Amino acid sequence: MTLSFYLATKNQNKVSEIQDILKNTGILVKPAPDNIVFPEETGNSFEENALIKARHLKNFVSTEPVAGEDSGLVVEKLGGLPGVISARFAGEPADDSKNIEKLLDLLSPCKDIKERKAKFITIAALIIDGEEKIFKGEVNGFITFVARGTNGFGYDPVFEIPGIGRTFAELTMEEKNRISHRAIAFRKLADYLLKR
Ligand code: IMP
Repeated sequence: MTLSFYLATKNQNKVSEIQDILKNTGILVKPAPDNIVFPEETGNSFEENALIKARHLKNFVSTEPVAGEDSGLVVEKLGGLPGVISARFAGEPADDSKNIEKLLDLLSPCKDIKERKAKFITIAALIIDGEEKIFKGEVNGFITFVARGTNGFGYDPVFEIPGIGRTFAELTMEEKNRISHRAIAFRKLADYLLKR
């Protein structure tokens, strides 16, 4: 029997990334049915928001495993912001360029790269056979002084990975998916599914 789960997101970038991350596992990642409208992400943590999305989708596909995913950027100098409001940091409607502009603006007093430490976090919440399981992925980096690269989405053009010297937006999807927060969390989820 093919292992599979529904993914509770409307973000096609995330669906593609996660399908790519799990492509060699034999696990099928199914996008949420088109007609589903997800509730507002009102949680105070990535975990709460991932569970809000997963539990909502579970109402529509009750017999199948579902996974909710919440992720974001945590910047040390900004006390953890943008955090759970990463997508709408510069206000609604969500706009990646405006978010980046606001972030670079807030960090403009930080001239030393050591003051620009950040991490991406992903929480994946799996609901299977009535149980809820949480998996976490984290990747450390720092915020660049200017945006670089055209791949990916969100804050990718301003997130540089130490030792690689490139932003996430300067990596191919395959390169990003070897090291990203989302890859770490979803590989843990896949291991769990394959071993149970
Ligand atoms: P979510 O859809 O509520 O999880 O919002 C996640 C937001 O965090 C995205 O809209 C991006 O702004 C940011 N984010 C999360 N993961 C990434 C990533 O891999 N690259 C760039 N930005 C990301």
